[in-house]
Amino acid sequence: GPLGQGRSIMQARVAPLGSSHVLLLVEDHTQAHRVEEVRRDFVANVSHELKTPVGGLGLLAEAIQDAKDDPEAVERFASRMQVESHRLAQLVKEIVDLSRLQVADTLHEPRLVDVTAAVREAIDYSRVGADAKQIEIAEACAPDLKVFGDEDLLVTAVRNLIGNAVAYSEPGTRVAVGGRLNDEMVEITVTDQGQGIPAEEQGRIFERFYRVDDARSRATGGTGLGLAIVKHICANHGGDVTVWSEEGRGSTFTIRLPAAADRTGGSAGADARQ
Ligand code: ADP
Repeated sequence: GPLGQGRSIMQARVAPLGSSHVLLLVEDHTQAHRVEEVRRDFVANVSHELKTPVGGLGLLAEAIQDAKDDPEAVERFASRMQVESHRLAQLVKEIVDLSRLQVADTLHEPRLVDVTAAVREAIDYSRVGADAKQIEIAEACAPDLKVFGDEDLLVTAVRNLIGNAVAYSEPGTRVAVGGRLNDEMVEITVTDQGQGIPAEEQGRIFERFYRVDDARSRATGGTGLGLAIVKHICANHGGDVTVWSEEGRGSTFTIRLPAAADRTGGSAGADARQ
C-alpha cells in the first residue's frame, strides 16, 4: 500500500538527449512520504492527548481509595471521574472520526442531502448547551439547499461550528446560523459575538489539537479536534471551510460546498453523479 512506499522520496531517471546533453527527470514520491509523516505525528499527538485524562482518572481512583471514610469526598471524586471518562470517550470518538476522514479523501457513497434539514438538526442538537449558557441561536436558512454527500457528517460539521460559537461566547450573546445558495455553492455560516480569534492564529486553528488558549479550550471540554474534523468533512465533500474573525467582536465560519444541481434546472451534475 501507499504507506509502505514511504522510504523512497525522490526517484531520478536519466534520459539521453542527443549526444552531448542528458535530461534529468526527478519524480516526486513525496506524497507517500507525507502520508507516513502525518500518520506518525498523529499517533504522537494522540498518545500525548490521551495521557492527561487517563492519568487524571488514575489519580481520582487513588483519591477515592484514600477518602474511604469521607463519603462526601468519595461522591465528589466519583462525579469528577464520570466527567473525565465522558471526555475521554468523546476524545476517542473524535480521534476515530478524524482518522477515518484522513484516510479516505472522498466519500464512500454520496447521496443527495437536504442541507437545510441537516442545519436544523445540528441546531436542535446544540440547543441544550446554548440554553444552559443563555445563548440564543437564530436560524436563517434558505429552503431546499442540496448537496451530494453524507448527511451525518454534515450535521457533525455544523454542530462542531455551533458548539465552538457557544463555547467561545459570553452568556446573553447570539449565534446566527445561515444557509444560502451562492454561485452554485451552498454556503453555511455560523456567526458569533464571542471573543474572536487573533489574526495570527486564524491560519492554525484548523490543525488537529491546535488551540488558541489551551486552558480555556480544555475548561470548556474542547478536544482540539473539532475544526480539523470540520475541515476534513468539507474537503471530502469537495468544499472548504474558512474563518473571518475580529478579536473582541466575534467570528464567522463559512462552509462552502458544491450545490447539487436542481433537477428542474436541467443543468448537469445531479443526474450525472447519481
Ligand atoms: P476545541 O475543542 O479546542 O474547541 P477546535 O478544533 O474546535 O478545538 O478549535 C480550535 C481552537 O480555535 C479553539 O481551541 C479556539 O481557541 C479557537 N476557536 C474555534 N472556534 C472559535 C470561535 N467561534 N470563537 C473563538 N475561538 C474559536
